[in-house]
Amino acid sequence: MRILVVEDDRELNRQLCEALEQAGYAVDTALDGEEGHFLGDTEPYDAVILDLGLPLKDGVTVLREWRAAGRDMPVLILTARDRWSDKVAGFDAGADDYVAKPFHMAELLARLRALIRRASGHASSEITCGPLVLDTAGARVFKDGVPLRLTPMEYRLLAYLMHHQGEVVSRTRLTEHLYDQDFDRDSNTIEVMVGRVRKKIGKDMLQTVRGLGYRLSPPGGE
Ligand code: CA
Repeated sequence: MRILVVEDDRELNRQLCEALEQAGYAVDTALDGEEGHFLGDTEPYDAVILDLGLPLKDGVTVLREWRAAGRDMPVLILTARDRWSDKVAGFDAGADDYVAKPFHMAELLARLRALIRRASGHASSEITCGPLVLDTAGARVFKDGVPLRLTPMEYRLLAYLMHHQGEVVSRTRLTEHLYDQDFDRDSNTIEVMVGRVRKKIGKDMLQTVRGLGYRLSPPGGE
């Protein structure tokens, strides 16, 4: 999962970035509304954290422009605690959720997980695929009740595929959703990683669809 953080407070931006990376996300950041708008308009994010008070272009305008252009990724806005009108303006511009500053990082992360789950059609915090259970809160995957030993990148890959199980996911799409923009992307890395994950979860669940990509589905199921 890849997240965009648009926040002009450098210290808060850094804290968010650190917490998100620790939680297993690929993260891009912007410090003003113009750069943030550009990134959200051109890169595929699984969710965006958007401050409303931003230099160059305010958050409500950024969000309104994304929505007008058909960008439908979940957006969580950061608002000032005493500005109820900001929340109204944010929701009217197309926000999906908000947290008021100052906030607890754990709450922001929980809200973000919920937004990402719901965007891929999952209401529960545990996502199941055959013998696999993804615990989104604990950032772990269990197979038949036993936690799998996954590297952070393997977890990121498997979590993405579990959110999108049953779909054929192309290598390009995986690359775009697993790495931040500064990462030197090499699609062979994806293939190697898929191979390692396949070994850990059982061969038959993660299929290669020739020329198209990969599909995770329960054994025996489509
Ligand atoms: Ca601000």
